[in-house]
Amino acid sequence: MRAIRDRLRLVYGVPQAKPHGHPIAELILTVLSQSTNDRNRDVAYLALREQFATWEEVRDAPVDEVEEAIRPGGISKVKSARIKSILRAISDTAPAHAPDLDPDDSLSLGWLAGQPVDEAQRYLTSLPGVGRKTAACVLLFALGMRDVPVDTHVSRVGTRLGLFRLGARFEEMHDVMLEITPPGEELELHLNLLHHGRRTCFARRPACLDCALQRMCPSAFKVG
Ligand code: SF4
Repeated sequence: MRAIRDRLRLVYGVPQAKPHGHPIAELILTVLSQSTNDRNRDVAYLALREQFATWEEVRDAPVDEVEEAIRPGGISKVKSARIKSILRAISDTAPAHAPDLDPDDSLSLGWLAGQPVDEAQRYLTSLPGVGRKTAACVLLFALGMRDVPVDTHVSRVGTRLGLFRLGARFEEMHDVMLEITPPGEELELHLNLLHHGRRTCFARRPACLDCALQRMCPSAFKVG
């Protein structure tokens, strides 16, 4: 992994983004990202934030109003129902996990920062429709906790590089990714593998000839 990390670092550098501290925003953004591109996801997210001043308002709004707001992001019927059930589930369950939480302010995930990572993962994946990738996005990007999201690009590039077992499920890939990622390099490895998947190791025809990882890749020139 270290050799791969070093080569990717040479090509893409070391990302410097700090955790932004807004776990609910990250969670909703990740739900909105499903089955669409980044641009449409962002348009839907901004429309939602413009229409509703708080997450409580989204939770309590009629579902068709939420659906209308996020329509640009696609499959808005499914996503609006999911967003509302997630927000409702957090309000209902967070106080049991975080006794210090103000009951009038129970729509909160900031308390996850004080939990061990595996418990925070368990809580997030107990929310409706939330899987390991979404949980990892919240923990890493919002709270700076030790988790590594494995999305479609990371999964494809990692499998071609031999980091993941062929046919491994996403749950297993997340566990492996955590095992092989040195502490403190979670964001760097996630983003650099993602960039590599978008810019070189394409799904259909990977550009192996131009690839900085070619010499260490067991799949070089064997795909597409
Ligand atoms: S050598 Fe080819 S298959 Fe391997 S990581 Fe590079 S682009 Fe992907």
